[in-house]
Amino acid sequence: MRVVVIGAGLAGLVAARDLVAAGADVVIIERSRSVGGRMATRRIGKATVDHGAQFFTVRTPAFRRRVDDWIERGLVRTWSQGFGFDDGYPRFIATEGMNSLAKDLATGLDVECSTMAFAVRRQDHQRVSPGSPWQVVIDDGSTRAADAIVITVPLPQAFALLADAAVELDESLFRTDYDRTITLLTVLDRPGVLPDPGAVQNPDATFSFICDNAVKGVSTTTAMTFHASNEWSRTNWEEDPAELLDRLEKAAVPWIGDARVLERQLKKWRFATPRTIWPDPYWATSDNRIVLAGDAFSGPRIEGAHNSGMAAAHSLIA
Ligand SMILES: Cc1cc2nc3c(=O)[nH]c(=O)nc-3n(C[C@H](O)[C@H](O)[C@H](O)COP(=O)(O)OP(=O)(O)OC[C@H]3O[C@@H](n4cnc5c(N)ncnc54)[C@H](O)[C@@H]3O)c2cc1C
Repeated sequence: MRVVVIGAGLAGLVAARDLVAAGADVVIIERSRSVGGRMATRRIGKATVDHGAQFFTVRTPAFRRRVDDWIERGLVRTWSQGFGFDDGYPRFIATEGMNSLAKDLATGLDVECSTMAFAVRRQDHQRVSPGSPWQVVIDDGSTRAADAIVITVPLPQAFALLADAAVELDESLFRTDYDRTITLLTVLDRPGVLPDPGAVQNPDATFSFICDNAVKGVSTTTAMTFHASNEWSRTNWEEDPAELLDRLEKAAVPWIGDARVLERQLKKWRFATPRTIWPDPYWATSDNRIVLAGDAFSGPRIEGAHNSGMAAAHSLIA
């Protein structure tokens, strides 16, 4: 079976790995220059900064097995028991930054980066016959043939891809909306002012999470990630980027303290977190040839994306 996976975030990579292990011929199409999606890590000079997901928890046996393997190979370690109070779930981090886990999963897979899927269509069998029933159209006009397609991009982007595919989508899928996150990244000349373990959650109305990547153990020099809250991000989304940088840096002063800001960058996540979660770990057409997966299906976090990718792959293998 020839499968095209659209999106090389965690869900797409996990799905592709399991499909390849089951003998499928798989290609992953990824529009960014690298894999990982929202498991994103950026180099700013000598600093290493996680600027999407910051940590993860483990609640299910399937993800436990994956995390145990990462821990055994030194890719993951426990960071803390929580921020302010212990809720019984250790927070795990990737020792080389979140993105390193995506790179690990991508090893040996056929990933076409810097390649944007533009549309999903049925093959025109009057012209192309015999062959795979589906094709993915790339924005350069080329196509990839597929017997099945796993789409792991955020749902509004998936709907756009399927606009001409004559696929009957479940109406309630359209109700899934996503919170936005505006993120400020700063490189400092010395440590800022953050309590142990180098992070705070929901400290005020502006920020939802603040982390010192050096204290976390990911960066060799002090670099802080400031995620603005959903409300702040939504209200200020359209504002000029230079203005956003100034306002966020001003709001960050209590945690930057006396340190000097050597560099600052802005990242806007339009589809940061799904607000409603589909009750099943994936959605598929009745013939099971178009499968939607990602964190909108198994939970708005790394574990959810992982488990959704697995379930999507197994729906095709079964
Ligand atoms: C700011 C922020 C903080 C977060 N913090 C945490 C946290 O601390 N802990 C936690 O567990 N989770 C966290 N999350 C959530 C977590 O990152 C996601 O749940 C998870 O990474 C989603 O994985 P995914 O594979 O479903 O989607 P994505 O990672 O979004 O992957 C989708 C991929 O599809 C690609 N793509 C999109 N359109 C196209 C196209 N047309 N053609 C080809 N490729 C395309 C994208 O480039 C992307 O690589 C956070 C997310 C954000 C944004």
